[in-house]
Amino acid sequence: MADIKVVKFGGSSLADANQFRKVADIILAEKERRYVVPSAPGKRFPEDTKVTDMLYACYEIASKGENFTDAFEAIKERYNGIIRDLGIDLSLESEFETIRQCFIGRAGRDYAASRGEYLNGIILAKYINYSFVDSAEVIFFDDNGSFNLERTTKVLAERLSTLERAVIPGFYGSMPNDTIKTFSRGGSDITGSIVARAVNAAIYENWTDVSGFLVADPRIIDNPEPITTITYRELRELSYMGATVLHEDAIFPVRTAGIPINIKNTNDPDAPGTLIVANADNVPTRYTITGIAGKKGFCAITVEKDMMNSELGFGRKLLKVLEKNNISFEHLPSGIDTMSVIVNQSTFAGKEEKLLREIREAVSPDHIELDQNIALIAVVGRGMRKTRGTAGRLFSALAHARVNVKMIDQGSSELNIIVGVAEDDFETAMRCIYDIFVTTEI
Ligand code: ASP
Repeated sequence: MADIKVVKFGGSSLADANQFRKVADIILAEKERRYVVPSAPGKRFPEDTKVTDMLYACYEIASKGENFTDAFEAIKERYNGIIRDLGIDLSLESEFETIRQCFIGRAGRDYAASRGEYLNGIILAKYINYSFVDSAEVIFFDDNGSFNLERTTKVLAERLSTLERAVIPGFYGSMPNDTIKTFSRGGSDITGSIVARAVNAAIYENWTDVSGFLVADPRIIDNPEPITTITYRELRELSYMGATVLHEDAIFPVRTAGIPINIKNTNDPDAPGTLIVANADNVPTRYTITGIAGKKGFCAITVEKDMMNSELGFGRKLLKVLEKNNISFEHLPSGIDTMSVIVNQSTFAGKEEKLLREIREAVSPDHIELDQNIALIAVVGRGMRKTRGTAGRLFSALAHARVNVKMIDQGSSELNIIVGVAEDDFETAMRCIYDIFVTTEI
């Protein structure tokens, strides 16, 4: 089934009837777009509320035994409005009644939230005349709550092989005891990936409201360039640092099957978007780097000790203190007689004194220093490996911008360089890195 396309549409792509029309046009424009995964209706305007959030809030009221009629009516109206505006001959009244009864019967938060995509799936299937498959029948979790890829792929593949075209709602599946369970927020991306794998799709198109990934965060850089092709590994580096467009867990199912993901914009379907592939060695990069991403909120514990390099087990003892305190570390840059541990400030807050004391006891350092309010910036790109002078350009740009670099970590894959700077320098650093690698290379 090499020519199948699985298409997933996010909440803003299905927020109202007008968006539904765009979605239908996109699906029907190519006969390969045979399997469709919708989210629940999202925001129609910035202050609007996503249906998923309305469902959580409504269920919260219901589960306290309070009157949830108003909240429930508002949800019904979101769907009825879409049905009315599209002019389709469909009534969801009996579905609404079942859901209302299940709310009264405390069917669970996950059940409540899942109805967002369930109902939207029914409407979309009717509108484009595709079959509807309830994800509870084809997406499975184990008793411990983890997703069961093997069973799901088998059942889903069998089921879809009998259906030429179908809508499979995103975000949820069922537990062995038949209750509903959802993925974490944004999880329809995962459903799309699972469906793509089950039908061995040629491509997984993920339709959203932006034209793919951008080289840098548009809240910091004005009009950053789009990324046309990115590898899974580069994407992982960038999303770890906070670039969000796609749910992180959405990558695994398609990645292992070698299926590329194309991020596309429902509001600008002709834009190429971003293609995510396993291997892009033969795809020239437009710039030396593929993307820049960064995050504030880190701190560095730097431990100094003479002759540290010859002390067996030093690193282990140091890290053991962190492990005992349930703190995971992010980076571990080290020198000959120094070692720094970069940790997320939030996991560390309130434990500073205790931790430093325990480190002193564990490794008897000559000096120990805690540096807070650090921002990390990852400069990521498969093109860096082949280009001489990347690090030189990066650091001289930072120096020109008067940004002091507190930490440097270059992954052995040469796929990224991570720099630590003071949080106050974060935006300046991001801008000057963008300028040196993108603006001047255009
Ligand atoms: N509707 C769910 C959420 O808002 C899942 C999704 O949209 O992917 O998180």
